[in-house]
Amino acid sequence: MAVRLDLDAVRDAVAATTFEEAEKLVASGRLSEIVAVGGGAAASIDNGAGSRDEVWVGVVAKAFTAECDCCPDGDQDELCAHAVAVIVAALQDDFLWSSAATPPSQETVDPKVQRLADIAATLSVRRLSTMVAEHAVTDRRLETRLLAYAGKLGPLDEVEAAEVRRTIDNLASEATVGDWQVHDVLQAGRWIVDELEVLVQRPVNETALSLVEHAAVVWDELVSNLYDADASYTEEADETGDAVRAVHIRMCHELQLAPDDLVERLRSLIGEADVTACLDEPEDYLHLVGAAGVAALCR
Ligand SMILES: [Zn+2]
Repeated sequence: MAVRLDLDAVRDAVAATTFEEAEKLVASGRLSEIVAVGGGAAASIDNGAGSRDEVWVGVVAKAFTAECDCCPDGDQDELCAHAVAVIVAALQDDFLWSSAATPPSQETVDPKVQRLADIAATLSVRRLSTMVAEHAVTDRRLETRLLAYAGKLGPLDEVEAAEVRRTIDNLASEATVGDWQVHDVLQAGRWIVDELEVLVQRPVNETALSLVEHAAVVWDELVSNLYDADASYTEEADETGDAVRAVHIRMCHELQLAPDDLVERLRSLIGEADVTACLDEPEDYLHLVGAAGVAALCR
């Protein structure tokens, strides 16, 4: 469920000096764009020391909870000015707060990732930066994530969305031109997934979600061409469909769409497919739409 909150409630809840400092931060332009993460609002703030602090604020158990790099050990008894700045900026954006947000520290982290993160944390910033840059230069996903984290790449805008859409449409139409082979369709699918996996590294918005849904419909059409072909290719085609769905689920999770809205979206998307729809795996959406949503989608 999404909730709306107002500025006066925030002003009353924090010290006057904290609120003033927060307003100054918002006015200073040091705050990145606000993005939805785990049902709360996240942003990074230029800390004036050559790096940025990550700030997250969300509504947990009816109260604002914050996590900020200025207070790395977690529990803020009182919200810091950075957190209040994020709240103020999010309210200006008409941000929709989930009534049950998940703080980043409570997102489950793969133990292998955690182990490597702990080791990485012992390196000097210079060595770590070089290592990340060397990889990012050959990996568009990592490059995009790096730019997004640095506040240099915001959510997808309409012009960029149109360009990615054209790329996807061209890949699909070229795959079935003339004397095409099954291989061409599978390769187009892999390229489309590559595009989506770059996209999901950026802050997610409705524009990006719609684009992924467009790609799902395009893939469903493309794959319907394979049904008369050799059945041994279906496994690889399924993998592409699974990858498209994984990106869709991740974006829906980050945007915290209302379950009813998501069920409606899925129903209409699945309805568009002639043969099969890659988003038609209701169980995979269980954590987003609940058991009633899954049941509605299975009908
Ligand atoms: Zn802070």
